[in-house]
Amino acid sequence: MDEYLRMLEEAKKRDHRKLGKELDIFMFDDDVGPGLALWMPNGAVIIEELEKLAKRTEQKAGYKRVKTPHLAKENMYLTTGHLPYYAESMFPPMEMDGEKYYLKPMNCPHHHKIYGNMNASYRDLPIRLAEYGTCYRYEQSGELFGLMRVRSLQMNDAHIYCTEEQFADEFRAVNEMYLNYFKIFGIEKYVMRFSTHSAEKLGKKYVDNAVLWKKTEDMVRNVLIDSKIPYIEVPDEAAFYGPKIDVQVWSAIGREFTLATNQVDFAIPPRFNLTYRDSDNTMKTPICIHRAPLGTHERFIGFLIEHYAGNFPLWLSPKQVAIYLSATSLTTMHKTFAPY
Ligand SMILES: [Zn+2]
Repeated sequence: MDEYLRMLEEAKKRDHRKLGKELDIFMFDDDVGPGLALWMPNGAVIIEELEKLAKRTEQKAGYKRVKTPHLAKENMYLTTGHLPYYAESMFPPMEMDGEKYYLKPMNCPHHHKIYGNMNASYRDLPIRLAEYGTCYRYEQSGELFGLMRVRSLQMNDAHIYCTEEQFADEFRAVNEMYLNYFKIFGIEKYVMRFSTHSAEKLGKKYVDNAVLWKKTEDMVRNVLIDSKIPYIEVPDEAAFYGPKIDVQVWSAIGREFTLATNQVDFAIPPRFNLTYRDSDNTMKTPICIHRAPLGTHERFIGFLIEHYAGNFPLWLSPKQVAIYLSATSLTTMHKTFAPY
């Protein structure tokens, strides 16, 4: 009980909404709109450093960067199945030239289009497309909460297209990337929540392919066990199109955050006619891994503010050195180097 009360007290002091304001990191404005964060110069420094870290890490891991627009036509979201099922979580459409356009709620479909245009052969795979893409989601105004629940989000996104044989290695590499980030940010407690399907709901809540479900879930489970990553398995909470992994971390004071979701997707690639030419010259469908280890800038920076109580490590700090001059003394703050 004492520990819990201490955590609450500490959480109040570290509240990212309070510190974010005091440290001039982000703001909201009524004219811009609720849930649409504006990053001030100090916030932009943190964003730039996080992106540098992510881009360097992804480049070393063989990712290619892409850039995609913030909106797309209705037809795209009919193909993905977002419409009509996910419509209440999207911004309402804009009409132009007799067509409806939607702000993108996720980057996947745009990336699928790029993959589809690459005419990949088995020799090209795996193909890893990365983008810090900005997405828009309609959260009810009562649910908006500082940087944790917002309407515009910049995501550390990437999609990996691979063969079934490559899947385990790719998924393992994604997990290693997570562990590397946890080390950099001093995140000591974490768990992966592995959501699986339910056999009774095949064809209703889940894509009707029992063989593929079993195969992918076994592969994910084996990698988690091999990598010695703590995980809990939750039946009947998978995504429609494949098993899902939510990454939960605990901040320095023991507050829990869900930072990111990884998904294994074997249903969407066929809907987009995504294929690759295999060594026997037949066309096959790749598996897609959606991953975002650093989540969104909004949620991750919100987490970091609370985790570090606003006292960022030097490489991430918008104000790295302060020199206080008085008549008799000169004090400089300690300087360390970037950990990557
Ligand atoms: Zn995705």
